[in-house]
Amino acid sequence: MNSLQKKILSEGKVLPGNILKVDGFLNHQIDIALLKDMGKDFYELFKDKNITKILTIEASGIAIACYTAEYFNVPVVFAKKGQHKNVGKDVFTAEVFSFTKGTSYEVAVSQLYLKPDDRVLIIDDFLANGQAVLGLQKIIEDAGATLCGAGIAITKAFQSGEQLLIDAGIDVKSLAAIESMENGTVVFRD
Ligand code: 5GP
Repeated sequence: MNSLQKKILSEGKVLPGNILKVDGFLNHQIDIALLKDMGKDFYELFKDKNITKILTIEASGIAIACYTAEYFNVPVVFAKKGQHKNVGKDVFTAEVFSFTKGTSYEVAVSQLYLKPDDRVLIIDDFLANGQAVLGLQKIIEDAGATLCGAGIAITKAFQSGEQLLIDAGIDVKSLAAIESMENGTVVFRD
């Protein structure tokens, strides 16, 4: 069992609506030792892919992406949500339906920071129905860059996203794949 899986079992809380709360170590307070381990684990999974950039969505993906980027020695770009006047008008955009909020929002990345010769690794905290990653995939495609894979901290494998991404040809790998969390008990796939 890796350090993220251990932390989920000891401190994660299952909320109604298939939500796992990880505020004590990932989404609000951040456990830096854990993030270092996660960054290294993602590096091991994708180190052969000649990654030149890591792409995530604000806000909860950023810290994980930064620790991962340190191992790859590449920059992190995060897609900005909602109003993005300060990003400039030359942006790549995508519409994302939020699993936790139940509404859609736009994300944008400046055309300055994604180029056709970029080989991009997507990093995110959760995979539920896959909409966040598919939005980032669209942005990468619009930039003419190459999507090399998606590294997900926590995949809720009982939801539709993982299969959707595999069907879209994305190399998706997770540090903690949850098979079920019925009655508040988290069961990992492996
Ligand atoms: P998806 O786009 O795959 O449906 O959902 C992924 C996004 O929704 C993640 O970026 C994350 O912010 C949020 N999310 C999905 N499921 C959970 C969950 O169980 N717990 C938390 N904290 N966030 C979640």
